Amino acid sequence: MGRIAENLAEVRRRIAEAARAADRDPLAVELVAVSKVHPAAAVEEALAAGQRTFGENRVQEAKAKYPPLRERFADLRLHLIGPLQTNKVKEALGLFDVIETLDRPKLAKALAREAEKTGLNPACFIQVNTGEEPQKAGIAPAEADGFIAECRALGLNVQGLMCIPPVDEEPALHFAFLREIARRNDSADQPLALSMGMSGDYETAIAFGASFVRVGTAVFGPRPVRPEAAPSAAEGGAA
Ligand SMILES: *Cc1c(COP(=O)(O)O)cnc(C)c1O
Repeated sequence: MGRIAENLAEVRRRIAEAARAADRDPLAVELVAVSKVHPAAAVEEALAAGQRTFGENRVQEAKAKYPPLRERFADLRLHLIGPLQTNKVKEALGLFDVIETLDRPKLAKALAREAEKTGLNPACFIQVNTGEEPQKAGIAPAEADGFIAECRALGLNVQGLMCIPPVDEEPALHFAFLREIARRNDSADQPLALSMGMSGDYETAIAFGASFVRVGTAVFGPRPVRPEAAPSAAEGGAA
């Protein structure tokens, strides 16, 4: 077994264990393997090990890496987990099955316009800036209820909420906070899923109800340095 296959087996084992410890169905937690910066060959290894759901944080990188893989794996699913500029909405709808970073009214309107034009209405997660960090994307917690209602009224396919806790704070507090926002905005026909938890804290996130965990390093190993190297807000503070 290759290293990525071994890592995947270990992460899947730990996901199942964390779910059982929380009295949850292990199948109710989906692993999003975050492949940003890693080459297509790494994604291929994960595909060979049965992984089908992946996360990328940049439209251009996803465009370079994923279309050929999709041709061979029809059931591959790709999540956008980085900020989306409105001028890239059209391109993003052609590449991603799930947009996890719906974070502002302008983007909601652009997605709704494009959905009306093309009939493509992807599953969306609303990103909440639970730590109210100025450099981080996401709707402010105080505006979350209104924004969720606005996105639903626009006809967007709102599947859940997503957060990236501040690196220097206890993630459990943020996971509990996101869950609380979700529960008060659940609708009878559409309970909100939770995308939360990364390599360092996905088991904690599962204890707090995560339905999607976004795991990069624990699956693919440390990320290579990007050619242009400079850290940026586009990394979501999580690079
Ligand atoms: C990079 C990234 C991840 C994965 O982070 P790891 O710590 O490598 O697991 C998860 N979510 C987002 C939004 C990211 O940008």
